[in-house]
Parts: sequence; structure tokens; C-alpha cells
Amino acid sequence: MASCPCQSGRTYKQCCGPLHKGAKKAPDPLTLIRSRYCAYAMGEVGYIIRTTEASRRSGLVRDELAAWCGATQWQGLRIIESGLDAERPDHGFVRFEADYLYEGTVQVHREFSRFEKIDYAWYYTDGDVETDNA
Ligand SMILES: [Zn+2]
Repeated sequence: MASCPCQSGRTYKQCCGPLHKGAKKAPDPLTLIRSRYCAYAMGEVGYIIRTTEASRRSGLVRDELAAWCGATQWQGLRIIESGLDAERPDHGFVRFEADYLYEGTVQVHREFSRFEKIDYAWYYTDGDVETDNA
């Protein structure tokens, strides 16, 4: 059985599959970022949009996202740190790196992402892309 693209070591059906289908919700920002990475890898565009906080969805164009997912091959996810805001535990963050192959070259996407829990579900709100030259 194929292991889940998020590299949890579990199968897709035991891991991100139920989240993508809407059968389960991510219990924390870490699970959400893994399942969103997995959604990018698999072209699950609906999930990417659904787990973005509602007021931020207008910048997401389904066709563009699908084209981007189709043009990239995600090769690995590394979580650098994750946690909850000490003062506002309904806010969380994850810093991660993801490798992807785009037009024949391996690139690294490094991001500090922010999340918010709204009505018992976690959403991606925004993130800062980090570069070596920053
Ligand atoms: Zn997974």
C-alpha cells in the first residue's frame, strides 16, 4: 500500500484521505499543514480552498491552483517548528520546508504559516515565505 504523500508513514486512507474527504477535521495546525501539503501534492484543490480562512479565499483561483499543482511535483515536507500562541491558543503556527520539482529544478519552499481555530476547525490564515537572502 502506498504511504501518504505527507510522509507520515501511514497510508493515505489512514492519514490525509479522511481529511480531504471532509470525514475528519485536522485537530491541530501541524495536521492541517501536512494535509494541505498532501493536497498540493495530489491536486486536491477543493481542500486547499476549504481550509483557507474564508475572508482570504478570494485570492485563490481554483483553475490556477490546479494548474500549479499539475506543474509541480512535491518531493518532501520538513516541519521545523510548530505550536500554539501562548496567549491565544486558538492561534497557531508552523514553520516548514517543502521540496518541489518545477520545470526540471528542485526548489525549496520555506514558510512560516499562521492558523486560526474557528468553530472547532483549524484554518490557514496567512504565511510569510522565507528566503535565504532575507
Ligand atoms: Zn498524510
